[in-house]
Amino acid sequence: MKKFSVLLVALMSVPMLYSQTDLRIYDIINNVSAERIEKDVTKLVNFGTRHTLSDTISQTRGIGAARRWIKSEFEKISSECSDCLDVFYQKNLVPKGDNARIVHDVWVVNVVAMQKGTKYPNRYIIMSGDIDSRVSDPANFTSDSPGANDNASGMAGTIEAARVLSKYKFESSIIYVGLSGEEQGLYGGKGLAEYAKEQGWDIVGILNNDMIGNITGVDGVVSNRDFRIFSEPVPPTETEQQRNARRFYGGEVDGISRQLARYVYTTTKTYMPEMNPMMIYRLDRFGRGGHHRPFNDAGFAGIRIMEAHENYTQQHQDIRVEDGIAYGDKLEHVNFGYAKKLTAVNAINLASIAWAPPAPTTVEIGGIVEPNAKLRWSKVEGAVGYKIYWRDTTSPTWDNARYVGDVTEFVLEGIVLDNFFFGVAAVGKDGHESPVVFPNKVFR
Ligand SMILES: [Zn+2]
Repeated sequence: MKKFSVLLVALMSVPMLYSQTDLRIYDIINNVSAERIEKDVTKLVNFGTRHTLSDTISQTRGIGAARRWIKSEFEKISSECSDCLDVFYQKNLVPKGDNARIVHDVWVVNVVAMQKGTKYPNRYIIMSGDIDSRVSDPANFTSDSPGANDNASGMAGTIEAARVLSKYKFESSIIYVGLSGEEQGLYGGKGLAEYAKEQGWDIVGILNNDMIGNITGVDGVVSNRDFRIFSEPVPPTETEQQRNARRFYGGEVDGISRQLARYVYTTTKTYMPEMNPMMIYRLDRFGRGGHHRPFNDAGFAGIRIMEAHENYTQQHQDIRVEDGIAYGDKLEHVNFGYAKKLTAVNAINLASIAWAPPAPTTVEIGGIVEPNAKLRWSKVEGAVGYKIYWRDTTSPTWDNARYVGDVTEFVLEGIVLDNFFFGVAAVGKDGHESPVVFPNKVFR
């Protein structure tokens, strides 16, 4: 009998430690609703314009009415989870002439909903969409500007993720935020990133959603499976010393935003294998911008999640017909089933990160002129073990992994340091992992 119970305990503990999948993640995917996203995108479009400089007094038109509705929606979600969300406005005054698109003084107002973590309340993973919209002239704040795909889709996805995830408790905090002033010069993201620094938030990263609803591309491709994950290679805040060290120890394509991109890629491949995530090795589209950038500028990890096939006749356009082409970012062009999928991609990554322990702060690598690679790292409170990842130097993804248990150093025998890149992630009790940390120290 004793033997049997020992075996039983051993068997029971195996899936806890080594399972690749958490069934709750599939529930999260299934609970994201295309119908609710459609309802919310429609509601946002019906504010006529959500231009950052538009009317703030009307109850039915303009960005004021839109942000009040978003706030009330977050409050409604909170009331259904015993006030699990702290909902507030975070705002900054931008003076007239700050750039050519700011034609009068304006309060750039973000709507923040914060779901506090049970164990690491000051550690945050953020999902963002944008409140504001624009037409051909970025300073035109009165014309109809539905902004259905750009970016009511990202905003609605963010609200929907809050609905689904507020049914769960997480160890780390999740922030759902509607950012404003995007089209005027990324003002909302800049304001919130500065606020986060003042507040001392420990930010794991931001998943910025900007246009997650178009499946019919100007390139002729129609696909409800492809989507893009943009990430910059290394932080713009790195020091000259860090830049120099990269020449000798590597890391040119291994900054914190890139690791977050790989994390989203892997989680998607694991739980939503029907999707085709495309990691794009650049900050954003060629010469264009998005609200993850101000977070990157402040030294935080941040990526942009968006459709793979854009249609430029339906972005930043006055509603009109010209040479037989119907221009405008209208509701009819948004595919809600696709927006649901990309919302689910966000939700499962927010959940995985918020259920995972923090990443090790220090990862050291050694083994120069030796046959074995050696790694050691700082212990993470709450981790049940660690996973060492490595890959060919030409590979975009962490293709090799070894779970090494609850230790803080390990020797990979027969793996020569020179021929691979390495990293370490912390693993929590339900199998969820932190993002991978690229070595930030060398030892001999
Ligand atoms: Zn835009």
